[in-house]
Amino acid sequence: PMSVDDIVESRRICVCVRKRPLNKQEVARKDIDVVSIPGRGSLLVHEPKQKVDLTKYLENQVFKFDYSFDETATNDLVYRFTAKPLVHAAFEGSMATCFAYGQTGSGKTHTMGGDFHGKHQNSTSGIYFLAAQEVFSLLSHRKYAGLDLSPYVSFFEIYNGKVFDLLNKKAELRVLEDEHQQVQVVGLDEVFVTKTDDVIKLIEMGSACRTSGQTSANANSSRSHAILQITLRRNDRGSTLYSKFSLVDLAGNERGTDINCNDRSTLVETAKINGSLLALKECIRSLGRNSEHIPFRLTTLTKVLRDSFIGENSRICMIAMVSPSMVSCDYTLNTLRYADRVK
Ligand code: ADP
Ligand code: MG
Repeated sequence: PMSVDDIVESRRICVCVRKRPLNKQEVARKDIDVVSIPGRGSLLVHEPKQKVDLTKYLENQVFKFDYSFDETATNDLVYRFTAKPLVHAAFEGSMATCFAYGQTGSGKTHTMGGDFHGKHQNSTSGIYFLAAQEVFSLLSHRKYAGLDLSPYVSFFEIYNGKVFDLLNKKAELRVLEDEHQQVQVVGLDEVFVTKTDDVIKLIEMGSACRTSGQTSANANSSRSHAILQITLRRNDRGSTLYSKFSLVDLAGNERGTDINCNDRSTLVETAKINGSLLALKECIRSLGRNSEHIPFRLTTLTKVLRDSFIGENSRICMIAMVSPSMVSCDYTLNTLRYADRVK
């Protein structure tokens, strides 16, 4: 019989939702939790004030997720149903990509485990750490030893359509496409790693680089996409690419509604984020429909992730993060609609 993990593993595109708990400030403000998760694959958003159950409305839009994680779900549990099957797929040669999507403050970085400001407890509990651990455990597994694989790590961010190498002092890099449609981030650092701790040290370094020079820790990082890639290469075949596993902490999706903004640079920034998130949705949808045409050239984000959308072996998991607070209800519904349309 098929286990739950097997079911997830056979899926090419998996879309999940994760709800975080109300935080201290929200509790202090007496915010109301409007999101409830009655079952593994369903989610209910109560309309503010009227407390009307919006499930029907959502069902009209064929609103279904592969998994819905409530506020009691640990990173470990979320990992097991989302990124873990992708790590295994990468060892079978898949281009595997896991996205964290949602408004700023909804828990994207918490889920990935990239929150290295101040306390370090997250460094050993997020998806980054758990996935890295799994990679090294599988590398020494009998099943894959014959492949003679070596893991390499890259970590970069996309801000305003530009690529910055987080492992190399935020150097700006160019993205080129050759005549075979192969996309290259020119000069991107790829660091050979030998243990989980190596990966974590690189992420720690890169994460610090992500927000340095900013007055508010979250201000800049929420407007950029952070992409961590673990690349597996075959030693016996001149280090040819075997597979890639990408973890993407996406920019906050909330800015689309900031229409009253007069600041030009913020408007450009917003347009870039919205454009890349829309293009991402289109690329994943095209992949899901086995479409011949994948519109990956539209934005830098989709261009650098081209390999994630092309080919038989692509595997994608999107984790849509939502805040439970009534105050965030509109953003939450936006996030859920987006996630719904990705499929
Ligand atoms: P984002 O990256 O989406 O902007 P963060 O991951 O930084 O959001 O989360 C915002 C705050 O909420 C952080 O302080 C984080 O530790 C906390 N948080 C997020 N998700 C959870 C969760 N599932 N359980 C407990 N705290 C969480
Ligand atoms: Mg974040």
